[in-house]
Amino acid sequence: MLLDIDLQNYWMPFTANRAFKQAPRMIASADGIFLYDPEGRQIMDGSSGLFCVPAGHCRPEIADAVNTQLRTLDYTSPFQFSHPGGFRLAEKIAELTPSGLDRIFFANSGSESVDTALKIALAYHRANGQPSRYRIVSRELAYHGVNFGGLSVGGMVKNREGFGSLLPGVVHMRHTQTVKNSFTRGQAETGADLADDLQRAVDMYGAESIAAVVVEPVVGSVGILVPPQGYLQRLREIADRHGILLIFDEVITGFGRTGQPFAAQTFDVVPDIITMAKALTNGSMPMGAVATQQYIYDTITGAAPEGSIEFFHGYTYSAHPVATAAALATLDIFENDGLYERAAELTKPFQDAVYDLQSLPLVTDIRSFGLLAGIDLLQADRFGERGFAALRALFEAGLLVRVTNDTVILAPPFVATAQQLEQMIDIVRDVIVKL
Ligand code: PMP
Repeated sequence: MLLDIDLQNYWMPFTANRAFKQAPRMIASADGIFLYDPEGRQIMDGSSGLFCVPAGHCRPEIADAVNTQLRTLDYTSPFQFSHPGGFRLAEKIAELTPSGLDRIFFANSGSESVDTALKIALAYHRANGQPSRYRIVSRELAYHGVNFGGLSVGGMVKNREGFGSLLPGVVHMRHTQTVKNSFTRGQAETGADLADDLQRAVDMYGAESIAAVVVEPVVGSVGILVPPQGYLQRLREIADRHGILLIFDEVITGFGRTGQPFAAQTFDVVPDIITMAKALTNGSMPMGAVATQQYIYDTITGAAPEGSIEFFHGYTYSAHPVATAAALATLDIFENDGLYERAAELTKPFQDAVYDLQSLPLVTDIRSFGLLAGIDLLQADRFGERGFAALRALFEAGLLVRVTNDTVILAPPFVATAQQLEQMIDIVRDVIVKL
């Protein structure tokens, strides 16, 4: 490493900090689907950063919009004041979400968006005369961020176990991954009945105690778990039957990853609330948002006296003008470059190449949906050891991926060519056979 920097002070997130010091993996610049280390070595971005850079790195349109915004209006208070960009962006997002999801609340990350969504659900039932609804139903293996609400409904044990009792009243349904469905491409034919776990929660605790059910339409961070055919429809039906709000956490799936702007559209299931972040600014600025059905907004605002604040929640940086400018530029790129359609077109060649890895002896399962794939590797002595070895070897070989436990996750940028996707997967093959 040629860089003359001290590695003493930065406490890195979700990182083996002590191991990192022995062999730091640094990125100094980026362009399109490529990243460059401080010595100029080129690395392909196989995970669109952390699922957040689908339009490719360092887009000049976004840089220009941010620069102009910083010179025009860098900041204004979002409490009792606003700026035109916030309204413009909310309108754009409302155009992209399924019909009815027309009210947009802004946050600064996926975690904040999830906690905001949970608070909206609780506030809705209170405003609607059902304050007894406080429980949230979620799922094992879910990732909903790291703030206390999202952590409490999350189902990744490692993330939860160090932090005490968390939020009360959370019920976890089973996850949908089954050995029987190993190597299923797209949605498995069996498993929709796992959605009946929501009904079991109702039977156990009473519908009058349940506020919402929250799921990722495709589970991302734990290694791409695809909902079985009919599963999300069944959740919707059960939720409807019992007055429970359905929240889709689309922080990863939002903005094209499944071939349509939102997975809600791909799966043809309309939730009451959608959370989003990541690709909203193409990764360039921290920003998250929550889209809610108009009736939820009407109920919450209608319960408060005219002229008073209706929802006691918000962030100093809600609809930050600079993040807003980045998001507006990003959504223009998605639209003008036809990136939702492109993601849909690339899905087949991507998945064809990914499922070619199926024959490798170390590969124990592959799951894929849209431009997302999870490749499970045979566990070595210690859980996660093989995955970490893969992450390091892939980086050495010129491909950046996300690894969770022993699963390699691919989520390529939509601007990659089919040939570049094949190249990425060739690197994965070459590395796995040598592990
Ligand atoms: N929800 C989901 C589904 C996510 O995948 C993530 C992040 N991977 C989050 C929430 C949290 O987002 P952030 O890291 O921006 O807080």
